[in-house]
Amino acid sequence: MHRRPLIAGNWKMHLTLTEAVNLARTVATSASACPDRDVMVAPASTALAAVCNAVADTPLLVGAQNVAWEKEGAFTGEISPIMLTDLGVNMALVGHSERRQIFGEDDAMINRRLRGALHFGIRPVLCIGETLAEREDGRTFAVLESQVRQGLHEVSIEQMAETVLAYEPVWAIGTGKTATTEQAQEVHGFLRRLLAAIYEKTLADKTRILYGGSVKPDNIDALMAQPDIDGALVGGAALKAESFDRIVQFR
Ligand code: PEP
Repeated sequence: MHRRPLIAGNWKMHLTLTEAVNLARTVATSASACPDRDVMVAPASTALAAVCNAVADTPLLVGAQNVAWEKEGAFTGEISPIMLTDLGVNMALVGHSERRQIFGEDDAMINRRLRGALHFGIRPVLCIGETLAEREDGRTFAVLESQVRQGLHEVSIEQMAETVLAYEPVWAIGTGKTATTEQAQEVHGFLRRLLAAIYEKTLADKTRILYGGSVKPDNIDALMAQPDIDGALVGGAALKAESFDRIVQFR
């Protein structure tokens, strides 16, 4: 089953407006050079409009780092899905571990965000991952299954076809510790079987499952060689044009 690879950069709370636009332009050149894969960047919300304008005529996709579930209302600090589509944003991260851990977002809220995004035509990237303590307790698969089932609660098969999963072990994010290719493949295989059980095999075979957690130029090729790894969600290494370009150009 061919799944179109997706390399996504999460810029987190980094880059001024000028820096973001400059980096986006360079990444757009990398994306244009690799027409067989999707490339996305997720700038901070302050830079979304300018980045969308700067790369409008390129294949680079622009995503938000989070999304609210209502189209408008009294939700101080939030950005609605139609505000995003209005800018040309058509993807959004949902459930990133920093949202879960620092800002206390739970699976129920993440599910609302994900369904809100889908309802308004934004493709969500649902991020899931176990902590080190959960892995050491042998609870990795139980934790992931619960995050997937709750995150995808009441998401139809048609909506799931628009959704991307990102497995990001919390202990590997920003730590320089990458899961071994075997550990990552084991989890990705598990997630695909889980999707087949929740939905159906055809859908599971089509769903893109990204790996995230200290992805770098020197480990991307081995990760992408795994049968169930369909792309990467990249934090730190996405902030430098040179390292992200090498990741986009994985072999
Ligand atoms: C992330 O924030 O999604 C991430 C994977 O970060 P890093 O690549 O820096 O570990």
